[in-house]
Parts: sequence; C-alpha cells; structure tokens
Amino acid sequence: MKSNTTITVAYGDGIGPEIMTATLNILNAAGANLTYDVIEIGEKVYRRGIKSGIEPSAWDPIRKNRVLLKAPITTPQGGGVKSLNVTMRKTLGLYANVRPCRSYAPFVRTKHPGMDVVIVRENEEDTYGGIEHRQTYDVFQCLKLITMPGTEKIVRYAFEYARRNDRKKLTCFTKDNIMKLTDGLFHDMFKQVGAEYPEIESENMIVDIGAARLADTPERFDVVVMPNLYGDIISDIAAQIAGSVGLAGSANIGEQCAMFEAIHGSAPDIAGQNIANPSGLLMASVMMLIHLGDTETAETIQNAWLKTLEEGLHTADIYDKKISDKLLTTDEFEKAVIERL
Ligand code: NAD
Repeated sequence: MKSNTTITVAYGDGIGPEIMTATLNILNAAGANLTYDVIEIGEKVYRRGIKSGIEPSAWDPIRKNRVLLKAPITTPQGGGVKSLNVTMRKTLGLYANVRPCRSYAPFVRTKHPGMDVVIVRENEEDTYGGIEHRQTYDVFQCLKLITMPGTEKIVRYAFEYARRNDRKKLTCFTKDNIMKLTDGLFHDMFKQVGAEYPEIESENMIVDIGAARLADTPERFDVVVMPNLYGDIISDIAAQIAGSVGLAGSANIGEQCAMFEAIHGSAPDIAGQNIANPSGLLMASVMMLIHLGDTETAETIQNAWLKTLEEGLHTADIYDKKISDKLLTTDEFEKAVIERL
C-alpha cells in the first residue's frame, strides 16, 4: 500500500460534479490511499466577478500538493474573461499534454479497431499566449510564439515518453512549408533531438496530410508530437474516432506540478441528468496514480473498467444496441466498475 498522498480536486462545472463523484468513489473503493483538498474553480468563481475563474488562495493547495485532479469547467464566452484552462497550464508550467487515444474494439464501436495513438501536445506556446490585438478597424492579429527552449522540452518529453513506454515510432506534425520560422524551428528541433534516440523511428508530416492520414488509418501512428493548436484539434479527432471523447483522459505535465483531466468539456447539454460517461476522468485518474507511483491501484482500476466495457455495460455516449448489453447511468456505471475491482 502506498503512503497517503494529498491531491487537489476541483469538481468543475456541467457534468463535472457527477463524473468527479463517480471517479473519487471508484478511487476510494480501489484502495487508493489519497486525501482530497477540494478547491472551487469555474462558473461560480467567474460569477463572483473574478475574471480568472480561480480564487487567488486556491493556487496554494495546488502548488503544495503538486497534483491536481480536475473536472471540466465551462468557459464563459467573450466578456474579457480568460480561459482558466489556459491560465492553469501557463501558471503551473504544464508544458506537455499527453492524450492516449485507443480503441476498445470489439467492445466499443469504432471504425478503427487497431488504433492505439498517443498525442503529445505542446501546452504553453503557439497561438495560446493570448497575444491578440486590433490593428485597424477591420484587421485583428494573433501572435504565434514558438521558442527554442519550449520546443526542445516538448520534443524531448515525447521521445522520452516513447522510450519509457516501449513505443516504436514518433511522428511530428508541423506546417513548416508555410510557417518556415515557427514550425520550421519545431521540425528542426525534432530532427536534432531525434538523433539522440536512434531506437525510435521518427518521421515528420505536414499537419494537413498528417491529420487526414490519422483520421483514415490511425493504426499507422504510434506517438505523435505537435504544437499547441494542432494538438488541441487533432487530439479531439483522435479520441472521437477511437470511440468517444467521453473515454479519453489526459495528463498535463510540468516540472513542479501535474494536472489530470478528461479531454472533453463540461457538456452542459447533458449536465444533471446522470447520463455522462465518467470514463475520461477515471482514465485521467489512472494516469495520475501511475504518476504518483501507485501502479498497482492504477492497474486494478483499469482492469475493472475494461471488464465493465467488455461486458457491454455502457453509458449512453457509447451505447449501441448491437454490441452493448445494458444502458447504464453514471451512478450505475460507477457501481459496475466498483463491483469488478
Ligand atoms: P464538450 O466536450 O463539453 O461536449 C461535446 C459533446 O460531447 C456534447 O454533446 C456532450 O454531451 C458530449 N460529451 C462530452 N463529454 C461527455 C461525457 N463524459 N459523456 C457523455 N457525453 C459527453 O464540448 P463543448 O460543448 O464544446 O464545450 C462545453 C464547455 O466545456 C465549454 O464552455 C468549453 O469551453 C468547456 N471545455 C472545457 C474543457 C476543460 O475544462 N478541460 C475542455 C473542453 C471544453
């Protein structure tokens, strides 16, 4: 049994509280030796007029505990409000976003049964710096920032990830035929760092054809690294074609802290109905346990979850009459996983 670890938890907005409750109940039932420091972020905080969506005091437990399990939040549209997700990644230096997207065929419907791709997305730079301004009445500008240290860090992380996880190939997506300096730097750094990892096959693709190939034949990819904006879009496509955005978890890794979350958003269209799939956040919590060194509990939860899917016990987003056995609510899914621990 691992010694007790305190992590920070944020229940988020929309379906956040429902999927967080299910996830924590499963973690506790599996014997994860965790204590939770709960912080409030998102809509309630925005409503108090705090434009960052987080109380200044909430940063203390996040920094102290170094690990945050976060449910999705709703970002209010416009109105000078900042995206809390972007703020968190930048404030905590969470430079690598790791999103495993694999198929669970034949138990979950997918057109790509052989798919097992990990997207490694640069998480701090590119057009996400929020450096936007109005040049003239009808012209707006957004700056794309790519730095040498930032690029080296993410590319090295991707090669190290491939090595540690016994992955054979790393593909880099850039648009360096057009953005010769910014994406050109990303590609050059990929080649330079790649030379230090001769055992890992490396290839570069122009992002548009790379995205097309990934959507068509994802099984030809292994680990894929790319700048922030491409990674944001392509990782959602990858998760969806693997089965559902509701199934994928992600890790945001920094040198001091790490944040784990589902890849999907707060799904306000189904909030409060007890029908959301908690799997994305649960898989994020499995990645968190591995990060904390508790691989035993991580494996126990992963196996119970796989067994639940294999027995056709499915939430609405993946329910399919031909392959599913029973349509479950969020609560019922949680109980089914716990029964299989
Ligand atoms: P979304 O991911 O919330 O929802 C897209 C679709 O997928 C919806 O039909 C939803 O019902 C479905 N879906 C998502 N998660 C599901 C789950 N676990 N189970 C079943 N179905 C699920 O995307 P959106 O509607 O574009 O965004 C809603 C809000 O979430 C926005 O305010 C957005 O800014 C925010 N968002 C937050 C995060 C985050 O906190 N990390 C990430 C993305 C979007």
